[in-house]
Amino acid sequence: AVSVRGLHKRYGALEVLRGVDLDVAKGETICVIGRSGSGKSTLLKCLNLLEPPDAGEIRLGGERITGSGVDADAVRARVGMVFQHFNLFPHMTVLRNVTAGLRHVRSFTRQAAEAAAMAQLDRLGLGPLAHQRPNRLSGGQQQRVAIARALAMEPEVMLFDEATSALDPELVKDVLDVMRALAGSGMTMVVVTHEISFAREVADRVVFMDEGLVAETGPARPTLENPRTARLREFLARVL
Ligand code: ATP
Ligand code: MG
Repeated sequence: AVSVRGLHKRYGALEVLRGVDLDVAKGETICVIGRSGSGKSTLLKCLNLLEPPDAGEIRLGGERITGSGVDADAVRARVGMVFQHFNLFPHMTVLRNVTAGLRHVRSFTRQAAEAAAMAQLDRLGLGPLAHQRPNRLSGGQQQRVAIARALAMEPEVMLFDEATSALDPELVKDVLDVMRALAGSGMTMVVVTHEISFAREVADRVVFMDEGLVAETGPARPTLENPRTARLREFLARVL
């Protein structure tokens, strides 16, 4: 579903991505781990063209999305993204948060958008909150609304950037459960997370980023239990 070759990104003198190669198969869940500043968020932002890569190629469903002549808005409609800070529109109800993209990007009628939005909200147990403002919701509920909003667009791949890092500990599980169910349903997912146990249980594969490169990748459980590289061993020793 996603293929990345030789991806480079720099901010001024700082080379953040130094030639990242990555393949995500359809239906696969990948967890990206690595220390702060290793380039995890930058990689996700390049994947949905929030940041333009400096060099390299990204393909989505076989189609090149980097280089000239690409409609970035069309690409973003195919790639759902969930951030650490939910980024909901505070002045809109939950329902309007979910319908906005459907109406303005996918040109759904109001009725069709509301039906699709309610289906997603119900699926995540949020139906009763549809007419609330986000600030009336718990952090876990807000994050689930953000997930529902992304899913309503029927993306080909979902990106999660530390989706549970800003939540109170007792709210983390609800959001991880939603992500786990989504992975089980066959969604293609790239998940940046510090939750190593989630990676071990849910990911098909882990990708360890170190200084702007994929330093190690492999099937989740064996890679986390028995890393090949000293860098991943050191990283896991510090976070576990
Ligand atoms: P964390 O675990 O802390 O979220 P990360 O692996 O997601 O880290 P990135 O956010 O990708 O790391 O950042 C990689 C490096 O690029 C960091 O040194 C960061 O300060 C720098 N950086 C990120 N975004 C920008 C930007 N817009 N302008 C300048 N530097 C940036
Ligand atoms: Mg980050």
